[in-house]
Amino acid sequence: MLRRFPPKYATPEELPALQLKGLQWTVAHAFRNSPFYRRRLTAAGVSPSDIRTLEDLARLPFTTAEDLRDGYPLPLLSVEPREIVRIHSSSGTTGKRKILCYTRKDIDDWLHMFARCYEMAGLSPEDRVQICVGYGLWTAGAGFQLGAEKFGAMTIPAGPGNLDLQCTFLLDLQTTVICCTASMGLLLAEEIHARGLRGRLNLKKVIMGAERTSEATVAAIKDLLGVKEVYDIPGLTELYGPGTGLSCAHEAGIHYWADYYILELLDPDTLAPVGPGEIGEMVYTTLGKEAAPLIRYRSRDLTRLVEGACPCGCILPRHDRILGRSDDMVVFRGVNIYPGQVDEVLSRVDGAGSEHQVLFERREDGKDYMALKVERSGHIGESADIPLSRAIAGEIKRNLMVSCSVEILPHGTLPRSEKKTRRVFDNRRY
Ligand code: ZN
Repeated sequence: MLRRFPPKYATPEELPALQLKGLQWTVAHAFRNSPFYRRRLTAAGVSPSDIRTLEDLARLPFTTAEDLRDGYPLPLLSVEPREIVRIHSSSGTTGKRKILCYTRKDIDDWLHMFARCYEMAGLSPEDRVQICVGYGLWTAGAGFQLGAEKFGAMTIPAGPGNLDLQCTFLLDLQTTVICCTASMGLLLAEEIHARGLRGRLNLKKVIMGAERTSEATVAAIKDLLGVKEVYDIPGLTELYGPGTGLSCAHEAGIHYWADYYILELLDPDTLAPVGPGEIGEMVYTTLGKEAAPLIRYRSRDLTRLVEGACPCGCILPRHDRILGRSDDMVVFRGVNIYPGQVDEVLSRVDGAGSEHQVLFERREDGKDYMALKVERSGHIGESADIPLSRAIAGEIKRNLMVSCSVEILPHGTLPRSEKKTRRVFDNRRY
């Protein structure tokens, strides 16, 4: 299926050897050229010649966002500064910006990966791609833009916002593909719906990236635009940027480019690998990144691996949607609970709205209690509250292995925010 930007291996059996070769190269390169990595590896008692099998990955020390900050402005630098051709930067959720740098080869690799996304999403050179993400220091604009050019589609670098201009181009240029963040996608879909433009557009696909998506958003965008295909591109500035994987057309998870990086899923507390299908923190090791290679970089993002062969026939492995960040994890009666898990359960219960709050409390009996407040979805009446709360409590028990009380509230009761809405309140005193 992937003809021009195929995986660098032909069968799943060939992948470990390819990854080992890349791992050995990365460790040797980082040890030789980066004072930071040399210090870290030496402190861990590992030298490049110790990496003989993929299992030796577990001997390598971790790299974190703090390391990137400590090494500001050019952390993890492993080449001569004159070899750098590009800088990108992300604001990061706390403190200083993260700055990452790229050599010519790093950019070429990234664009190859991004072009693979477009190919896998079924685009052709006939497609007209309107790119509605931010350009500049952020990785999204450059990635979506240059990846689409490398692939060979017509590109329209519209940038974010400016709904008037977006609608004009969608109509006049008969755009077939929109690339955007999930929030921009929803905004644009609502605008097109409000203007009644749907029937005059030629839109076939939406590719979303650079933001955690939920099933509810994807469903709303499909519904408002009448578009059948919505793809999700995961991305992390530290790992090139967006374009390092793409959700499967069969909606069977996200294929990730395992020929460019190794993805480990580890328990954020013990840092041991999680079992099959269990949620873990995504930890990245790059296989050919020159300027700022990653060795066991802890992203704090959470997901689970999807096992087995994909019905679409693609041999690239899969992980699930990003379910949240390990910083947001709550430990309740010995069970790790991630906010994304609650989202996920509620999205499967008919009648539950998208807004909810999770409260944790310690009562006088000394025990911890979990309470869930959930809005009814718009079209549901009060009479369904009791079966609805039972259904939600049952699904939470089945999926998260914890008991909770559920209160159903009228639609529109809980606070909304344009930014990140706070939904988890841990009121226990420790
Ligand atoms: Zn697939």
